Amino acid sequence: MQEAYLADEALNRVNLHSKPSDLRITDMRVAEITGAPFASVLLKIYTNQGIVGLGEVRDGASATYALMLKSRLLGENPCDIDRLFRRIKQFGGHGRQGGGVSAVEIALWDLAGKAYGVPIYQMLGGRFRDKVRIYCDTDAAVASGTATGKRLKQRMELGFTFLKMDLGLMQIADVPGAVVFPAGSLEGYREYPRRGPLKTIEERRVRNAAYDLHNIQHPFTGLHFSDKGLDLLEQYIAEVREVIGMDVPLAIDHIGHISMQNGIRLARRIEKYVPAWLEDVIPWQYTEQYRQLQDATTVPICTGEDIYLKEGFEPLLNSGGVSVIHPDLLTSGGILETKKIGDMAQDKGVAMAIHMAESPIAAMAAAHVATATENFMALEYHSADVDWWDDIVTGLPKPLVKNGFITVSDKPGLGIDDVVDEVISQHLQPGVNGIWQPTDHWDDEYSWDRTWS
Ligand SMILES: [Mg+2]
Repeated sequence: MQEAYLADEALNRVNLHSKPSDLRITDMRVAEITGAPFASVLLKIYTNQGIVGLGEVRDGASATYALMLKSRLLGENPCDIDRLFRRIKQFGGHGRQGGGVSAVEIALWDLAGKAYGVPIYQMLGGRFRDKVRIYCDTDAAVASGTATGKRLKQRMELGFTFLKMDLGLMQIADVPGAVVFPAGSLEGYREYPRRGPLKTIEERRVRNAAYDLHNIQHPFTGLHFSDKGLDLLEQYIAEVREVIGMDVPLAIDHIGHISMQNGIRLARRIEKYVPAWLEDVIPWQYTEQYRQLQDATTVPICTGEDIYLKEGFEPLLNSGGVSVIHPDLLTSGGILETKKIGDMAQDKGVAMAIHMAESPIAAMAAAHVATATENFMALEYHSADVDWWDDIVTGLPKPLVKNGFITVSDKPGLGIDDVVDEVISQHLQPGVNGIWQPTDHWDDEYSWDRTWS
């Protein structure tokens, strides 16, 4: 007995992954889940030394965006993170299209951390903080500001020190005289282009029409707030502040597909309630309109969750059009790219909040960047009402978000031991049968991958 115990103890001290230079990628597989809080894709990258890297494809994005990269990665050393990232980054794009490249990049960091026995934040340069402040996002579809205020107050009682809610078209669209709109245009926004299965041509036509409608950019919708609408929105946030007080930061999102000028009108109305930021008022591509928006109000203007790569953030930061940037690691290009984006923003005096709406894998990736980036302000958490969220993985504190903070440990990589198959198997996306299934059909995907000649 004593001998066995000593042998076990000795084994515990041996680093079984002690040959990082011989580490090779052998496989890549996915599990497509939903409800945590949205649909996302958990990613595993396997190696020849038994260690597995975890990543996640962004909420609402396709597993294909990651799997199409498999043939470009097999046989490679996952510790060559930056080199492999530069190889695959041509296959990413803004919004959900960044999801595959970003998922792989995160899994490579997890593998490198596990191979060398180092936490990711340490590889990024070390700590700026011992714990990561979380902001709790709360959908606010209800018409009553007081009711939403009470929900936010409950968040505060759970320990959250930073809040976000929706304020915009969704609360007033049904109120006569609150919104100026071209006849028939509002109904369509209530239908989102959902995942299949689609059986008929007509079903496909309806979904494609929904895509087209939701892709009409804000300046072209013809929607405006009336003064009555602005009165109602001002009353809404006033009621919320009445319940939660003025002491706690409150960010504002989902204003609706209104123009920059309507954004200015709303921002000026709610300045006295001191929003932490006003988010995605218009598409982030309209750099000059962002500058006009920020010049017209004292409310900090924020965008970024759909921007891929630091090059996407640069024009906005140079324009002075934002006071807070809000990258999502699962779109931005992953861990190192977001660290670079944060540092670039800091040089302009701009703070970084981080968007995140997936599982603890995405949360930990973001928390490591937040730990190691000086101008970080708060990290999104969208799963306060998902009771199985903490059970998706093992090896992390339970609950992971405690008193409004995540504490990042010194464990290697992301700090996650494993994914719990029994839990995720109960929350698969519609039409998905099984998890971590073979992906051999992606092994030989090929094209002449060069973006110049
Ligand atoms: Mg948002």
